[in-house]
Amino acid sequence: MSPVKSNKTSPAKSSTKKKAAKKSGIDLIGPLQDYFGFESFRGNQEPIIENLLNGNDTFVIKPTGGGKSLCYQLPALISEGCAIVVSPLIALMKNQVDLVRSYSSKDDVAHFLNSTLNKKEIKEVHDDLKSGKTKMLYVAPETLTRQENLDFFSDLNVSFFAVDEAHCISEWGHDFRPEYRRLKEMMDQINAKAPIIALTATATPKVQQDIVTNLGLRKPDIFISSFNRPNLEYEVRPKVAKDQTIKSIVKFIHENRGKSGIIYTLNRKTTEELAEILKVNGISAGAYHAGLDSKLRAERQDMFLNEDMQVIVATIAFGMGIDKPDIRFVIHYNIPKSLENYYQETGRAGRDGMEGKCILYYSHKDVSKLEHFLRDKQLSEREVGSQLIDEMVAFVESGQCRRKVLMKYFGEDYTIENCERCDNCNHPKEKIEAKTAAHNLLKVVKALDERFASDYVVNILIGRMIPQIKMYRHDELDVFASGNDEPEHFWTSLIRQMLLEGMLEKDITEHGVLKIGKKGVAFLKKPASFKMVMSNFYEDANEDDEDAVDGAAATAAVDSKLFEMLKDLRKQFAKEKKLPPFVIFLESSLEDMATQYPTSLEELEKISGVSKGKAIRYGQKFVDLISKYVEENDVTKPDDFVMRSVVNKSGDKVFIIQQVDKKVSLDVIAKNRDMKMEQLLEAMETIVASGTKLNLNYAIDQMVDEDDQEEIIDYFKSCETSSLDVAREELADLDLEWDQLKIMRIKFLCEFGI
Ligand SMILES: [Zn+2]
Repeated sequence: MSPVKSNKTSPAKSSTKKKAAKKSGIDLIGPLQDYFGFESFRGNQEPIIENLLNGNDTFVIKPTGGGKSLCYQLPALISEGCAIVVSPLIALMKNQVDLVRSYSSKDDVAHFLNSTLNKKEIKEVHDDLKSGKTKMLYVAPETLTRQENLDFFSDLNVSFFAVDEAHCISEWGHDFRPEYRRLKEMMDQINAKAPIIALTATATPKVQQDIVTNLGLRKPDIFISSFNRPNLEYEVRPKVAKDQTIKSIVKFIHENRGKSGIIYTLNRKTTEELAEILKVNGISAGAYHAGLDSKLRAERQDMFLNEDMQVIVATIAFGMGIDKPDIRFVIHYNIPKSLENYYQETGRAGRDGMEGKCILYYSHKDVSKLEHFLRDKQLSEREVGSQLIDEMVAFVESGQCRRKVLMKYFGEDYTIENCERCDNCNHPKEKIEAKTAAHNLLKVVKALDERFASDYVVNILIGRMIPQIKMYRHDELDVFASGNDEPEHFWTSLIRQMLLEGMLEKDITEHGVLKIGKKGVAFLKKPASFKMVMSNFYEDANEDDEDAVDGAAATAAVDSKLFEMLKDLRKQFAKEKKLPPFVIFLESSLEDMATQYPTSLEELEKISGVSKGKAIRYGQKFVDLISKYVEENDVTKPDDFVMRSVVNKSGDKVFIIQQVDKKVSLDVIAKNRDMKMEQLLEAMETIVASGTKLNLNYAIDQMVDEDDQEEIIDYFKSCETSSLDVAREELADLDLEWDQLKIMRIKFLCEFGI
């Protein structure tokens, strides 16, 4: 990740440079249709290709999804000789080659050479190259460092060199590879005359300059495309409780059945867990992260590319160079580290120019986590890192058009009032007049001689006495504490919004010092209306618990109000029937009802722990209550999706029944099923409650004293509660453990309950 992002020193200012297009006189549309099946070029692809075909060095800066690779693939296919494509992504070379092969009728049209090939395969590639059949050869930079390869390539007819992901050449680029520094030297050895096309999706001017210098591009024509992706729709959602977030994701995916998508998370554990939850909810999903072995990673990537897997849940390790045009959504489960990351990752959606939804779940807690990661880093890296996070947070909390904020980051002005494809344009947030506050803020920045960063300015405003302020004697300024009528986050938010409007500027080379922008100077002279967005929407949205995916939280989405109502109903009903409440329905069954809202007896039968007989015998009142509740509260019944917990219940059920028949000890059953004893007993109770008898006497006799057994059964016959804690108190003289009571209750249910 490049630390520098000044927009002013760009070697080539935005918008397409048109100088190039001396017509090559070659028909490009024909091959475009023949090979790629497109009717027309996108953006500036055509002038780029013409420029290259005219033998000029070419530098292409295009956002991810902007159709970069076609800029060298098409000319390679129609040129004499073979193009050498230098690509840093060994892992993805095969995919790139497969893609090119799919455009042609023959496999020999494209090859790759890297360390993964064996001798025989290398020979085949060499033969095809010598025969002139191959139009494109993908190589890793490492391949070019070997003299024998250089000698071999020198004898070939090289049409041109393409350097993909060229930011890797720059020490400012986020994947710097030292070998890339020698690329120019190596290309000269092979064929000094062949033109070079360099391509990158990185927009920072410093990286761009570095690429031009290091590749020794000869008077290159530079093509910069707009970073706007008009077909993408941006949305930020508050991440409230974990189970709600997961439910919302499952629901979204169900509504987008059959559409490919990526979910990005911060850590490996979460990828695995989320993928698990999606799977048990009937979504074909897989985890992808750097901790998996490379074979498994390649396998899952292939499944995703071939549509055998709908959703991939990944850390950022996934996606570099992934060329799947029809990814329909990208979900960020955690806030990314920087706007550039966010842009790259969301950029993988809708590459074909069609629908692409980008949803980010935001919580303050995730921001703290990111900041926490920075703690062990060196000071300079920490400063850069926290600036990037700040910009990301500013984007998320902004009430401005998302597109406008993103474009601004890449140095472009987006001037359309309403983009119609972001949450802030579609559902504008409340705005308040902040003329006085903005004026006050500018006065503070001025009083500090534009020499301090945002947090210091805020401290002056709210009058917080920190040692630095004391040292500089800034508490003696007139403006000290001049904004103490507003809370800290108000001022932080106002600063972000004024930055976005150009009233303030942040000097990144000087540790983020705040300066007054042109508009700010004018405003200071003559204050005018300034509308500020209230982003307090996110103030409460900070509850989430990353560590609690497993267990209860994963069952997710219990409607607690309904759950309480169902419990009340069960209590009344139990009294009427003179039965213990758990004989009617188990607690876990009520939870399941409060998640799935069954409104008919058929639906009720699908609830865990509910047999057909039980549904008929006790179910009607419950179904009635739920129907009424659903209607009154306008609940969207999850009829098209059912949130299921991670535990594979039906598989467990069969296994447990078989093992109990064989009188296998409970410890062993639990161990084989990777369950805790507590979970095993819960599962057994559910099995019994739904009508299958389990003869557990062999286990009970080992666990509970025979005399005690009778007393416990008697207790259950007359108890009015489902609580085992109460049972334990009432039977205190027996000194029973939870396990003992639980298994006795299962026995009771078997014998008397059904
Ligand atoms: Zn917008």
